[in-house]
Amino acid sequence: AKEVGRNTYEFYEAELNQLAIRRHQLANELRQAVKNGELSLVFQPQLNIVENKVIGAEVLLRWHHPILGNISPAEFIPIAENTGLIKEIGNWVMDNACQKIAECRRLGYEIRLAVNLSALQFRQINLPEMIASTLQKYRIPPKLLEVEITESMLVRDVSQAIDILERLKEMQIRIAIDDFGTGYSSLSYLRRFPLDALKIDRTFIDELIVDVDDTAITLAIISMAKSLRLEVIAEGVETAEQQEFLAKNNCDDIQGYYFSRPLTYKDFVQFLASSKPI
Ligand code: C2E
Ligand code: CA
Ligand code: CA
Ligand code: CA
Repeated sequence: AKEVGRNTYEFYEAELNQLAIRRHQLANELRQAVKNGELSLVFQPQLNIVENKVIGAEVLLRWHHPILGNISPAEFIPIAENTGLIKEIGNWVMDNACQKIAECRRLGYEIRLAVNLSALQFRQINLPEMIASTLQKYRIPPKLLEVEITESMLVRDVSQAIDILERLKEMQIRIAIDDFGTGYSSLSYLRRFPLDALKIDRTFIDELIVDVDDTAITLAIISMAKSLRLEVIAEGVETAEQQEFLAKNNCDDIQGYYFSRPLTYKDFVQFLASSKPI
C-alpha cells in the first residue's frame, strides 16, 4: 500500500509539474501572440426564435499557436487573467469587435455583437470611458454592443459593479449575465443591477428535456426573468428538440451548434447574407 501511495503521489507530482510548465510556457508566449497576430475572433450567430431572425453573434477568442496548434480559451483566458495580459487582449477584442460591427453595418447588416468581459477588465474603473472611445472611433450606435459578464463579477464589489454597469447603461450598451444559474445570485439580488438579458448556462440546456431538474430550472429562469422584464437567451442549444422546447416556453433567443457553430468573420457575413436578403 505504501508503494502504491508513493507512486500515485509521484505520478500526481509529475502531472502537476507538466501543467505548471505548460502554463508558464503559454504565459510567456501569450505575450507575443497578440503582436504576432496569432489571436483571432470567431462569431457564433444568435437567433431570435420568435421572429426567426439572426439578431447578432457572440464574439469568441481563438489562439492559433504556430507549434502547439489551437489552444482553447478555457485554457488561455485564465492564464491571461493571472498575468494581467487580459487587459491588453480584452482591449484588442473590444476594438476588433467594434470594427466588425461597423463593417457589417456598411454591408447593410444591423447586427449586435456580444463581447465577453473578464473579471479583471470589469474591475477597471475607466472601462465605460474606454468602451465609449472605441464606439466613437468606429462611429457605431452603442445598442449594437452587448457585454457579457458573470454573476461572480457582481458579488465581489457590489457598489463598484453597480457604478460601472449604470455608466454602461447610460451609454445604452446592452448588458447580459453569462452562465446564468451557476453562480450564487438570486433574481431579487440581480434586480439591483441595470441588466438587459440572462443567458441560461449550457449545462442546463445540455440535459433539457432528459433531466427533469434541468427542465425545471430552465423554466424557472425563463419565468422569473420575464417577470423582471429581462430577455432570455439559451446557450449550447444542440438539438431541434431543445430549440422547440425553448420556443414553446417563451425563451427569446438561442445560440448553439444547432443553429450555427462559431464562424470566421468571412463565414459569418455569408451566413448573414444567406439568412436575410438586404
Ligand atoms: P462562454 O462565454 O460560455 O462561451 C460559450 C462557449 O460555448 C464557447 O466556447 C462556444 O464555442 C461553446 N459553444 C457554443 N455553442 C455550443 C454548443 O451547442 N455546444 C457546446 N458543447 N458548446 C458550445 P469557447 O469558444 O471554447 O470559449 C470558452 C470560454 O472562454 C467562454 O465561455 C468564455 O468564458 C471564454 N472566452 C472566449 N472568448 C473570450 C473573450 O474574448 N474574452 C473573455 N474574457 N473570455 C472569453
Ligand atoms: Ca459568453
Ligand atoms: Ca456562457
Ligand atoms: Ca443534470
